[in-house]
Amino acid sequence: MKKIQMVDLQSQYYKIKADVDNAMLNVLNSAAFINGPEVKSFQTELEQYLGVKHVIPCANGTDALQIALMALDLKEGDEVITADFTFAATVEVIQLLKLKSVLVDVDYDTFTMDTEKLKAAITAKTKAIIPVHLFGQCANMEEILKIAEENDLHVIEDNAQAIGADFTFANGTVKKSGTMGIIGTTSFFPSKNLGCYGDGGAIFTNDDELAHKIRGIVNHGMYERYYHDEIGVNSRLDSVQATVLRKKLPLLDHYNEARRKAADFYDEAFAGHQHILTPKRAAYSSHVFHQYTLRITNGKRNELQQFLAEKEVPAMIYYPVALRKQKAYYQESDPKDFVNTDKLLDQVISLPMHTELDEEQLKYITDAVLEFMNKQF
Ligand SMILES: *Cc1c(COP(=O)(O)O)cnc(C)c1O
Repeated sequence: MKKIQMVDLQSQYYKIKADVDNAMLNVLNSAAFINGPEVKSFQTELEQYLGVKHVIPCANGTDALQIALMALDLKEGDEVITADFTFAATVEVIQLLKLKSVLVDVDYDTFTMDTEKLKAAITAKTKAIIPVHLFGQCANMEEILKIAEENDLHVIEDNAQAIGADFTFANGTVKKSGTMGIIGTTSFFPSKNLGCYGDGGAIFTNDDELAHKIRGIVNHGMYERYYHDEIGVNSRLDSVQATVLRKKLPLLDHYNEARRKAADFYDEAFAGHQHILTPKRAAYSSHVFHQYTLRITNGKRNELQQFLAEKEVPAMIYYPVALRKQKAYYQESDPKDFVNTDKLLDQVISLPMHTELDEEQLKYITDAVLEFMNKQF
């Protein structure tokens, strides 16, 4: 059996090696390393795939979030609501811009923002909401967009973990994750569902004016060469990464399907187990399984991780600490308001999830999990 890895980027690369190597060599020969035609082509192809008017590539997913917030002209002290249970980048950029992050609890079954808690957190100072499509499934955007409209708030979707997922609205309209809010952001970090071979990110919007503004911000606030109208940043996707992404974008749906198949195998193996809760698939969103995350309800999560490690099955705890309790983003809180997040911190364990898992490996992983979970303690 092939050694089991949390993410197997090497096997995925070998399957497209000739094509990717050739494309990368072409970029090297062209020497158009920055803002070359590959970046422009990738941008257009991603716009078409997502059905969004503007894609603005940038250097990484954290920059994408920061630039999105910069584009909205928020003022120091304005409040931005996001989830307490997510990767730190989301809250980091809010604080970096001297805005006030307001963290709210998540739903226990979907790991995404609890919309009742969101409503309760809105104040006169609230200006924006950043829902995170965590682990590959959209947050409840129908509800979030409604709340945002009622309260005149911007919605920025952190889509770093769910590119390719579809959201279905009650009226039957289907939209790609990241294209529903005023701005969407994503990351092309190698292990993401659409990953390049270094760092990369992008910002999406259907708003022409915002797109223009964002194109300036990513380029030193420059709209006309050497005239700087505002303080921007330097955040670019390079041509080598763009050419890799151009080769992988046509495979994204296939990659997401492979993840879904692995998830189906896991779901079936653990179905109905007394102490294992499998991830819920919401009716309104397809799931692209950036992570496959179980909840272990018998209090033995850490022991399970240890047991799996001994069997050479890697498993990770995403995430072990609530953002509101991190030194950098500490927020006074009443534990009653964060019941789900706090429960998840103790229960979650993510199993290997990538596009190259085969049945032998999946069987080995599920057997190992069940062997431990069926022990009498
Ligand atoms: C990966 C990730 C980011 C940051 O992306 P980088 O490209 O690593 O900067 C932001 N938000 C979430 C939810 C992520 O998973």
